[in-house]
Amino acid sequence: MTGTAAAEPTVTTFTSTVDRIDTTAVVLAETYFYAEGGGQPADRGTLGGVEVVDVQHRNGDIVHELAEPPAFEPGETVESQIDTAFRTYCMRAHTASHVLYGAGRRLLSDLGYGGFDISATIPDDAGGDEFGPAISGKVRVDFETTTEIDDETLTELERLTNRAVWESYDVTWEEIPRDEALDRDDIAFNTKTEEGIEGETVRVVTIEDWDVAACGGTHVGNTREIGPVTVLGRSNPGEGLTRVEFAVGPRAIRRRTTEHERAMAAAQSLDTNVTELPDAVDGVQSERDDLRNTVSDLRERLVDSRLAELRDAAVEVDGQRWLIGTVAGLDANALADRAESAVDDDIDVAALVDGDGQYLGVGTTGGVDAGEVVDQVTTEFGGGGGGRPTVAQGGGLGADGDAIVAFLRDLSGNVD
Ligand SMILES: [Zn+2]
Repeated sequence: MTGTAAAEPTVTTFTSTVDRIDTTAVVLAETYFYAEGGGQPADRGTLGGVEVVDVQHRNGDIVHELAEPPAFEPGETVESQIDTAFRTYCMRAHTASHVLYGAGRRLLSDLGYGGFDISATIPDDAGGDEFGPAISGKVRVDFETTTEIDDETLTELERLTNRAVWESYDVTWEEIPRDEALDRDDIAFNTKTEEGIEGETVRVVTIEDWDVAACGGTHVGNTREIGPVTVLGRSNPGEGLTRVEFAVGPRAIRRRTTEHERAMAAAQSLDTNVTELPDAVDGVQSERDDLRNTVSDLRERLVDSRLAELRDAAVEVDGQRWLIGTVAGLDANALADRAESAVDDDIDVAALVDGDGQYLGVGTTGGVDAGEVVDQVTTEFGGGGGGRPTVAQGGGLGADGDAIVAFLRDLSGNVD
């Protein structure tokens, strides 16, 4: 027998005759429990007072897996209770995926159906509020499309979905012959798995004026029953596929509240309101860029003035004028550049060390080998370096800047 959950999703209490029992696996003559399938999880609930932990299709039967072996026998009539909170969540989440797909039809090019999934769990307490325990689920819909789903498209999908919820479209379902269904190009199928189209008839779920899909799940009767839908994010699970994840119910509401709180906190930090937040952030960014430029200019001027100072203190040894000293805030490349350009008619060798004694840059007119100067320093203080005869650099020296300068002053009398 097949289940009647999809046909009559609002029936959550029923009695039925027990057909067979295999330890904890029970088959009923008739059941309204939804067996896992088509991206929708199995219903929870109780059967004859025993907890139902899973429901699966097996060899044409719907098998209820119980938490423990039941006391009842085949042939007995038992009462069943489906967990209405979980079922209602699944109906809403599932129908929301159809509505989202319908929104995709209006926004995305070359749209093909890539599947959907509800990964719902009922946590013990997490996320519960005055409305009861939150079902911690998220729903994903895979769109096969050539359209890049950027932030703008994503928010538009969310807007259209919530708009369709608000419009209160009726949701209906019917079985139609398979060939007739396949001939209709308005019906969304998962053609890869052929899920829902393997039988002689196809169950077609229609959202009035919005979407038509082949589907065997449980759905609400009107889109307004879905409530708020919040997009959580997007990813790319495979070539040409975009996965959109969203939440309905408490999680959807919580996510929005959280985002709103954060936006308001950010706005408050910038002394503005949420509406003006993007402009305020732009303002802060351009202010930061201006300050960076100012700092960079000031740093340059500081280096210029330091070099002028060192130039005045240059020492002459064996006909070569050496400019030696520490310059703060420059790395090896910058020191080498500065040393190279410091060399001119007055200066034959420029050897610059950063304040922390990590880096060294040497520029020469060629009378002294810049690489040799770097070699001597790294031999003494560690680190490494290299370069050309007129410009070289070293790094990883790990000594006090002044100690390196003192060494260079001694060195100036001892190199050719
Ligand atoms: Zn469905």
